[in-house]
Amino acid sequence: MDFLKKLFAGFFRKQAPQLIALTAPSGAGKTTIARHLLKTFDELEFSISATTRQKRAHELDGRDYYFLTKEEFEQKIANEEFVEWEEVYEGQFYGTLKSEIARIRRTNKLVIFDIDVKGATSIKRVYGDEAMVIFIKPPSPEVLFERLRKRKTESPASLEKRINRARRELAYEDKFDRILINDELQTALSDAEKLIRKIL
Ligand code: ADP
Ligand code: 5GP
Repeated sequence: MDFLKKLFAGFFRKQAPQLIALTAPSGAGKTTIARHLLKTFDELEFSISATTRQKRAHELDGRDYYFLTKEEFEQKIANEEFVEWEEVYEGQFYGTLKSEIARIRRTNKLVIFDIDVKGATSIKRVYGDEAMVIFIKPPSPEVLFERLRKRKTESPASLEKRINRARRELAYEDKFDRILINDELQTALSDAEKLIRKIL
């Protein structure tokens, strides 16, 4: 009887997620939280996306992103090299390369993504229960916009694009597996750690 119970439970047990996506509007804190988790847990590896946007001063090609020209990006779309890709902002493409996921899987680590809400939806569609999507929620839209302004990475035009898109993206909060509120940073980091510990 015990044997049958175990067999039954094993059959229906959800597998632990192997891919963890942090998603939110720009400025909500994905990068800050992802960096903290990567420092805290050796079991995680960051999925480096490809993008056509300009490199920021502190960023490194092959660490923060694979920075590609529009032509290189389009060639990879044509070759079906992406699991998902989006034109997140007009003329700025971002995508997850199949080769990147394969690289991380070979290390037996969990893949962690920093990805927009549409990309996160695609990851969930492709990987189902193998993926867990965590929506990072700022305390209010105003706080989010203020954080983006203070980050000082965007030109006035880019800031406006991001704020406009963020208004729409905030409406996605209920569509994912977990919501993580990023109000007081230390609390958010500790809540993020708890979520990961449950998976490991
Ligand atoms: P995203 O990757 O989602 O665009 P970032 O991690 O770059 O967001 O965070 C946006 C800005 O807000 C950064 O300057 C970051 O240092 C700051 N920030 C993140 N979380 C908090 C927080 N809880 N309180 C105050 N500032 C924060
Ligand atoms: P940023 O330019 O601030 O680095 O990123 C802009 C937005 O693009 C963020 O919401 C970020 O999560 C998203 N993004 C980064 N990489 C990818 C990716 O591979 N696919 C998709 N769909 N979005 C991404």
